[in-house]
Amino acid sequence: MSTTTPDHEHDRVPTMNGDTVDTDLARAWVQAIAAAMDQHKDHLTQLDSAIGDADHGINMHRGFSAVTAALAAADPDTVGAVLVKVGTTLISSVGGASGPLYGSAFRTMGKALQAPAADVPQFAAALAAGLQSVQKLGAAAPGDKTMIDAYAPAVDAFRQRAESGEGFAAAALAAADAAEEGMRATTPMQARKGRASYLGSRSIGHQDPGATSTALIFRALAETAEAAR
Ligand code: ADP
Ligand code: MG
Repeated sequence: MSTTTPDHEHDRVPTMNGDTVDTDLARAWVQAIAAAMDQHKDHLTQLDSAIGDADHGINMHRGFSAVTAALAAADPDTVGAVLVKVGTTLISSVGGASGPLYGSAFRTMGKALQAPAADVPQFAAALAAGLQSVQKLGAAAPGDKTMIDAYAPAVDAFRQRAESGEGFAAAALAAADAAEEGMRATTPMQARKGRASYLGSRSIGHQDPGATSTALIFRALAETAEAAR
């Protein structure tokens, strides 16, 4: 039996075959994030009112509304171009600390993924590059009570699944679960970065808003991957 793939099978990259993410899937992920930010806007703002300035839900909602409009206007044709567009739009539309941080994460992820589609290890590497860019910009380490406390364990979980050869949906599900666990673990922490750090020990006992939005972003990825399976 010949193992040669007929040329026409290279014409279209599948939306998802268990181990590939393409432009449509990236768009669907971003739409799912926008829907989550709409749904959880008040909750995120409520969390930020306890240890910040009560605008995190507003910031994320404004940012992803602008992203939705930007993606409708432009027509990015690679996974990377979609994610770069998300990043640049967040940077230009969100005033709070979270705008440049998430903006940098998505832009860096996008720059790492310039092919029309990405496989699971490539996506894992892009997520890790995004995390590095947030840490470079914000100088937060795990345990500082920030979005890093959800993002870092999510990247680790995704990478572990990728390395053991699991499909995109399984890796994304593990990442979402790890992000939520990391999010819950921020409650007893004392903030050492961002606005919440001004409160000192009074920041203890509250879940971090940015870790919460990060968990929503990974849950959106898991749900999008599962729906495309
Ligand atoms: P702002 O603090 O400017 O009002 P937001 O309310 O939108 O911005 O976002 C607050 C969230 O940003 C925090 O809950 C935290 O997770 C995250 N954050 C703040 N500073 C940093 C940092 N230096 N590194 C990583 N995340 C940070
Ligand atoms: Mg705030």
